[in-house]
Amino acid sequence: MARASTESSVSDPVRKILHADCDCFYAAVEIRDDPSLQGVPLAIGGSADRRGVIATCNYPARKFGVHSAMPTARALRLCPQLKVISPDFDKYREVSRQIQTIFHELTPLVEPLSLDEAYLDVTQVSRFQGSATWMARWLKEEALARTGIVISVGAAPNKFLAKIASDWDKPDGLFVIPPERTESFITDLPVKKLHGVGPATAAKLDALGIASCRDLRIQPLDRLLDQFGKFGRRLHELAHGIDDRPVNVSRERKSVSVETTYDHDLPHLAGCHQALAPLIEKLHDRLARHGDPAIAKQFVKVRFNDFASTTQETGATGIIHARFHELLESAWHRGERPVRLLGVGVRLMPEPDHHQLGLFDDLDAPSTRLP
Ligand SMILES: [Mg+2]
Repeated sequence: MARASTESSVSDPVRKILHADCDCFYAAVEIRDDPSLQGVPLAIGGSADRRGVIATCNYPARKFGVHSAMPTARALRLCPQLKVISPDFDKYREVSRQIQTIFHELTPLVEPLSLDEAYLDVTQVSRFQGSATWMARWLKEEALARTGIVISVGAAPNKFLAKIASDWDKPDGLFVIPPERTESFITDLPVKKLHGVGPATAAKLDALGIASCRDLRIQPLDRLLDQFGKFGRRLHELAHGIDDRPVNVSRERKSVSVETTYDHDLPHLAGCHQALAPLIEKLHDRLARHGDPAIAKQFVKVRFNDFASTTQETGATGIIHARFHELLESAWHRGERPVRLLGVGVRLMPEPDHHQLGLFDDLDAPSTRLP
């Protein structure tokens, strides 16, 4: 095994990927600006009487079982003293911009995932004698010094391991998985830590007696393909530490959506209408994580039990619940069959070009804030 990894490091350049993730980002910004909130169970989210959900909460709140995407009303039942603050996205975007600037001082190869999270490819960085550990430490120090925000950083030879590493000793984490240790690290990893393994897949793996990557690795690929379709190959690769996804700099998010495949088909339109509310709630949460970007359209996706799919969309500048129901109505009438999957989403307004923003920055324009 050791021999194989030595060989690969000779033939292929081993990548160095960092994943940086702010700890409880929105909550951390609010605590920074109001230190009296320190140590108090705190959540950022919508208010309970408007069926809001929690976007972020701090660790004292997590001790009560509060977590993101939870309805605020439920969070308050779990933790009656919970302080709920409504989000100030302008402020979070500004802090995010400052942190992204630090990332870009290290490398131009930055892929933001949301306001508080990014991948960095530092393979070619020669500063810090090329040490990913040193770079990670520098990012943490600079972020804290310039913004007052704590970030956790993971370093590894690929994206999925870097992301696991940043989470490994959060909060205020710095965890490095060097190439020679990936083999042993992955072997003991629970499968539910793998990228793309949600609760349903984890349960299915568990039922097959597969709990760790060690269990997964001894499965014949054929069996995984049989059980999980195309994702079986992905599972096989991840269990062997293979993840060739590049850090994608030009990634531009064009839409945000959530969807659910139901265990049992929804037989009638009425059931579909009922199923929309939790989806819309999740969509609100996902948009909040992306800093509530400007919306151009909203859409509904329906997949019937014969696997025919249809999408119905309409122009919108914000989320209008009644409109999702109208869209569902017309999409459903295209098939009038039991439904196996429902999705709701929004298409976003195109973002201004970042390079142009950079130019304006140089000209010291009074405001480069996005509209
Ligand atoms: Mg975070």
